[in-house]
Amino acid sequence: MKDGKKPPSDLVKVYHARQMVEAQMIKAILEDGGVPAIVGDEALDQLAFGAVSVRSGLSYDVLVPADRVEEARAILERPRGPDWTCPKCGEKIDGVFDACWKCGHERE
Ligand SMILES: [Zn+2]
Repeated sequence: MKDGKKPPSDLVKVYHARQMVEAQMIKAILEDGGVPAIVGDEALDQLAFGAVSVRSGLSYDVLVPADRVEEARAILERPRGPDWTCPKCGEKIDGVFDACWKCGHERE
């Protein structure tokens, strides 16, 4: 039956974060780029994506619909600088971030 809605997409992991806040920042970067993204344990509540196989063990994984994976990877692999270490708190930060996801210190 067609009702105008897209069929549910499978979700594919595009990033594994060590902290929820890091995962949330990756999600924000993807959404800024126009790709809908969710963090693993949110997926349980995200019926809009038709998530069917997401388990709580994926807590900090960032997931996107399978048909947006290439777009998501392109966004995350966009050259934004090398990985860096936050001078304020010492956290190792993925180059995709312009600011420390832990303490908010901006990359210099
Ligand atoms: Zn920091």
